Amino acid sequence: MSIDPSLPLAEALAAAITMAGPMSIAQFMGAANAHYYASRDPLGTEGDFVTAPEISQMFGELIGLWAADLWDRAERPPLAWVELGPGRGTLTADALRAMATAGLTPPVHFIETSPVLQAAQRTRVPDATWHRDASTLPDDVALIAVANEFFDALPIRQLVKRDTWHERLVACQDTLFLPIAGKPVPDDIVPSSLRAAPVGSILETSPDSVQVMRAIARRLTVQGGAMLAIDYGYDGPALGDTLQAVRGHAYANPFDAPGENDLTAHVDFTTLAAAAQSAGGVVWGSVAQRDLLGGLGIDSRTSALARASPARADALLADRNRLMDDMGSLFRALAVTAPHWPTPAGFA
Ligand code: SAH
Repeated sequence: MSIDPSLPLAEALAAAITMAGPMSIAQFMGAANAHYYASRDPLGTEGDFVTAPEISQMFGELIGLWAADLWDRAERPPLAWVELGPGRGTLTADALRAMATAGLTPPVHFIETSPVLQAAQRTRVPDATWHRDASTLPDDVALIAVANEFFDALPIRQLVKRDTWHERLVACQDTLFLPIAGKPVPDDIVPSSLRAAPVGSILETSPDSVQVMRAIARRLTVQGGAMLAIDYGYDGPALGDTLQAVRGHAYANPFDAPGENDLTAHVDFTTLAAAAQSAGGVVWGSVAQRDLLGGLGIDSRTSALARASPARADALLADRNRLMDDMGSLFRALAVTAPHWPTPAGFA
């Protein structure tokens, strides 16, 4: 189904649906988010949402120290740093500072499709190399790859239970987009424990997330290295409609104003872990963000920064509490390592 790039997105999607019939949730979400991220920097208090690296420098610093420690225990191989969906580049900038104190100064590779965010990343990490996907990453060094709030932005498919399971599609009524039940799908593709779910139940999958995870894990298996993925999510399989839209720090209807809201879905870490394992990766977790950051020493880092600038002590503690309490259990972390690499810190 083709989407005319010369039209405003809502019109182009409506025209495509009129021509070819209802489209999958994945296609709607993919087109909406591609437009959304390509046309703005959504991060920060003035934008639509705030992420952990934008809350506190400690987040990126602790992840940098996590990487340097693993690299050190893996006997310091030549290494490249990769971030997927780096937003403003803040996490990598903070991590690079922390890694340098531990003697690690890797070249930086960003996987980012938004030109607006690429420009923001360039101001913080001028020497990075940009990629559209994992296929062009260096293939002759180990990789440490980090993805914070990246997988939640990738398109999901939804199945809905009626008499049997159906693919959920997006229809268009005049100017209104709305979800409907499409053609039935074979029962076999629904995990057997969930097949008998009540009418109205929704099951989500993210084929794009599986593909990205496999591609990175395959490289780790061949090249060495590790990946850290942090997102809000759950250990599946589970039922539920987690497709959500956020605009100006408030929830919106995900089918309204496509391309003008941030569309996300909760990440199924069990499926991501299986994808990594199927490509030869060794999986750690998932663990709660609170346990990861606690294990990496966020409390001593908060105290050290507060001692260095006492006027900021209250603000530092408030930031620490946002990462540990507000986000601490909703957000989870999954690590993947190359076979025979050491246990990553925070996942013991
Ligand atoms: N990691 C950052 C930004 C999270 S927002 C932070 O924590 O602040 C999601 C990021 O993923 C943005 O940089 C967005 O442009 C990028 N992104 C979304 N879909 C993408 C895709 N299909 N391929 C590459 N990057 C994508």
